[in-house]
Amino acid sequence: MGKVCAIFGGSRGIGKAVAELLARKGCHLAIIGRNLEVAQNTACGLGAGHLALSCDISREQEVQRAFEEIQRNLGPINYLVNAAGINRDGLLLRTKTEDMVSQIHTNLLGTMLTCKAAVKSMIHHQGGAIVNIGSVVGLKGNSGQSTYSASKAGIVGFSRSLAKEVARKQIRVNVVAPGFIHTEMTAHLKEDELKKAIPLGRFGDPHEVAQAVLFLLESPYVTGSTLIVDGGLQLLI
Ligand code: NDP
Repeated sequence: MGKVCAIFGGSRGIGKAVAELLARKGCHLAIIGRNLEVAQNTACGLGAGHLALSCDISREQEVQRAFEEIQRNLGPINYLVNAAGINRDGLLLRTKTEDMVSQIHTNLLGTMLTCKAAVKSMIHHQGGAIVNIGSVVGLKGNSGQSTYSASKAGIVGFSRSLAKEVARKQIRVNVVAPGFIHTEMTAHLKEDELKKAIPLGRFGDPHEVAQAVLFLLESPYVTGSTLIVDGGLQLLI
């Protein structure tokens, strides 16, 4: 039987690459983003038997509705991947409070809400595995990304604590912390300059992050870990 996996932020970028890999592994997927049409296009591209949903991860009622719909259509959830995220970069003194709030609500609160809903289901169905997407800047910090970094550092603390809470229920919680990855989020960056700071000399591909997500989903004795996927960037910053 294929595993049932909910991928928040599965419609584009890193989440979409995770979806493509898990679909090849025979998983039944729920592809979730705010834009339903984009989620539907991604789900259709994966073949039959996958679900597309619109949900704002920062809104509790929408998250609860999404989980109800996933379980009604696909059955109990085995895997949760949180790849929904936004950035509003800028020096702290120039950052509007509303941009701080939206990053914390989407990146951190959203992760907490989906994990809470997933754990509620997994507890009743012999466990499961969760991978939350953090960032190397959540571990190392970055000028111009203080709120974003705080949201990603929060994901690490949250995931480690939740891993302790739910280990006895055979639920594992891990984090993947990417560096610069080719997606819409990084499309505006000056790669030629930035790649000089990356030991492997290039930005990563979303599929290279997906491999790390799959590893953590499938590794039965790994929980509370943060796996850095950054071409060695953290070695130098
Ligand atoms: P993209 O912008 O390419 O994709 C973001 C995804 O998240 C989309 O599917 C988007 O769908 C969804 N999303 C955004 N906001 C919400 C929301 N409020 N509710 C539900 N879904 C939402 O980003 P990436 O693929 O690059 O990023 C994926 C994750 O990886 C993020 O958490 C990001 O912070 C992290 N990351 C990315 C790095 C990179 O270099 N790209 C580096 C380190 C971390 P929609 O817009 O339809 O809602």
